[in-house]
This record gives sequence, C-alpha cells and structure tokens, in this order.
Amino acid sequence: MPQLRQNIITGDWVVIAPERAKRPQDFIIPPSVKVTKKENCPFCQESEAYRTNEKIRQQVSKNIYVIQNKFPAFVENNEKPSRSFYPEEGFYRARSAIGDHEVVILKKHELSLITMPKPLMTEMFEVIQARYIKMKEQEGVASIMPIYNHGPEAGAPIEHPHAQIFASGVVANTVGRELEGAERYFGINGVCVFCDIIKHERKVKTRLIYENEDYIVSTFYAARFPMECWIMPKKHQSQFENCQKKELESLADVVSFIVRKMDKAIPRIPLNFFIHTLPVALENSAYYHWHIEIVPRISNYGGYELGSGVIIDIMNPEDAAGYLKKA
Ligand SMILES: [Zn+2]
Ligand SMILES: [Zn+2]
Ligand SMILES: [Zn+2]
Repeated sequence: MPQLRQNIITGDWVVIAPERAKRPQDFIIPPSVKVTKKENCPFCQESEAYRTNEKIRQQVSKNIYVIQNKFPAFVENNEKPSRSFYPEEGFYRARSAIGDHEVVILKKHELSLITMPKPLMTEMFEVIQARYIKMKEQEGVASIMPIYNHGPEAGAPIEHPHAQIFASGVVANTVGRELEGAERYFGINGVCVFCDIIKHERKVKTRLIYENEDYIVSTFYAARFPMECWIMPKKHQSQFENCQKKELESLADVVSFIVRKMDKAIPRIPLNFFIHTLPVALENSAYYHWHIEIVPRISNYGGYELGSGVIIDIMNPEDAAGYLKKA
C-alpha cells in the first residue's frame, strides 16, 4: 500500500509508492553522448575558451579557481539597490535580479565529484565558504546557495568538475518554507526540528547510512527522489559559513562517502547537492539548522507531481538506505 508521508519541517506531503519500487539494478544510466572534449572545454586553463575569458574572479587556492558565470542568473548591482518590488504592467510584481553567480572550478579536468580526493574536496568547501563570506558583504544580497551538479541529466553538460554559488536578493522559496516550518516547530516544542530529526534518525537507525564526528547522513523520511539523502551537522549550527576548517574536512569525508556509495549503487548516477543555510540577513538562529540535501536524478516528475506538488517517490527511503549501505 502506498504511504503518504509528511516532511516534518515544511509540512509538505509525498507519496512513497512501494508497488512501483525499483531496485538499483533497474536503473541503468547510459554513458553520456554529449560530453565536452577537453580541447573545447571552457574550464580547462590551457583551452582557448579559458584564455579569452574576461570573467576570471581570482586565483583563490592552489587547485581551484573562481569565475563569474558566463550567463549569470543574478548580477552584481552597481546602482543603489532597491529593496522593494515595482509594479509591472500596472499589476504584476518584479524587481531586478540583483546578486551574484559564480563558478568554482577545479583545475583538473579528469576528476569528478566521485573521484575527487578528500583533501581537494575540503579545499573546494573552503573556497565556497570564502566566496560565500565575500558575497555576504554585497549590498542587496538576501540569501546565498552553493550547489553542485554532477552528470548531464543533473544539469551539468560540462564534464569538467565545478560547483556554483548563487547569491540573490530574495530568500530561496525552499529555504523560506523550511524557515517558517522550523520556527513553528520551535514555537511548539522549544527545540530545533533538525536537531530532533538527527536524534530520531540516530535512534531508529533504519535510514542512517554513515556518521563521523561532526555529521550524519541518512535518507530522508519524506524523500522526493529515490535515494535522496540529507547531511546534517550533529551540533546545532544555523550557518554554513561558520564552519571551522576541521568541520569542512569532516564534511568532505561525509560527502565523498555518500556520493561514492550512490555511484556504486547506480553507476554514473546523475545528482545534485545544495547547501541550505540561514539567509544572510538573519544572525544565528536557534531553530534553523544548515544542511546539505543530495538528490539523485533518476526519476522524472509527471503531471500529478507538477500539478499537486505532491511528489511520488518510487523507492522507499528505508530500502534506499539499505541499498546504499550495501553498495
Ligand atoms: Zn576541462
Ligand atoms: Zn538544530
Ligand atoms: Zn533543506
């Protein structure tokens, strides 16, 4: 029997439909045909595309560099920022997409999220954190979200390993909904809902996959995607940018552990991960807890999902945890 499950943070419903359940071996990801050749790669430093690029931001670390995205979704604001919306067509609301959009690029073309050595992944998180702190100073920026796309089906047509950081003048819809829900939960229970999730997952263990000194990773109870996993700092911490170097090392350990497991369970698995952290306008929060959501992209949304916002997940999160542990 399919089961409705509620996201305890946002209140959103999902359907876990075991009848349609698939095992990892039922998903076969064909090798990508549209891989960019190294000679034409815009991110390789020896390429023509790199040499003619004017958007190189800075040489921030030994193995990584940062550029502004060639087609930015949000752009730096040089005029006085306006915090308000303006009416469009005398009716709708709009405002300029102020912010920033950077690409954090590993120098080595041949690596991937799966094969990236841990020290290099730590370096990547350090660069992301440094850029995050820099972007925070920009006037008009309300929230910042670092993301990573892995595989062409997950929106990464360029094979060269890179992360992206989006800074925008509005709070992301998803983070806004989590904030509201977490504040409500805190009002009723007096504790952070994420801290409670961690406590619960460590107790029941059915979805828990791995933990180290600083983080846990588990599949998500109300998962929207097969094998969706959440990484959360064990100690209450609302802001990603406050992580110490040692904690970033620990983060690289847990991220590389889980993405390698996913790639073992389903070879060439496309996935995204994103960091959900406190909007920059807020100072430390007792009820919001930063985290990383990792979503494999092996399912598609149909009309019902789009129409209702109620997502049907074809893999039970407890089974998914089992597959990942065994992989
Ligand atoms: Zn390249
Ligand atoms: Zn917490
Ligand atoms: Zn989240």
